[in-house]
Amino acid sequence: MTISNPFRSGDKREAGKSDEEWRRDLTPEQYAVLRKDATEPPGSSPLNDEKRAGMFACAGCGNPVFPSDTKYESGTGWPSFYAPLPSEEEGTDGVETKTDFKLVVPRTEVHCARCGGHLGHVFNDGPAPTGKRYCLNGAALDFTPHD
Ligand SMILES: [Zn+2]
Repeated sequence: MTISNPFRSGDKREAGKSDEEWRRDLTPEQYAVLRKDATEPPGSSPLNDEKRAGMFACAGCGNPVFPSDTKYESGTGWPSFYAPLPSEEEGTDGVETKTDFKLVVPRTEVHCARCGGHLGHVFNDGPAPTGKRYCLNGAALDFTPHD
């Protein structure tokens, strides 16, 4: 878990790495979450308390995915957002979702559209205006405050 990685917007070369390369380039926590769909323990990420204005990017490839102005305190112990950066926005590839059947009740999994890294899940109990709760792993994110 690190929030000090340089912000590498638009670095498409990060996508398409081998498993070995991901293992080498990520911390064990980042690798477990991004590449193996692990979920970090609630309350474990310093990004829970990150309140500054800035951008949350995929820790795997630097793709900017969630702006700080859609972050809110969900009380779950995971960084939570009500909307991702629109994929039409310049400089981002946005996020994609797919249905995850790992538990009895299917959940919607959220991943980085650039490198496929697992970020978390999205639920329908979020605040206005979207009603969505993007429940993310801090280990999958790098935060860069605005100047
Ligand atoms: Zn990514």
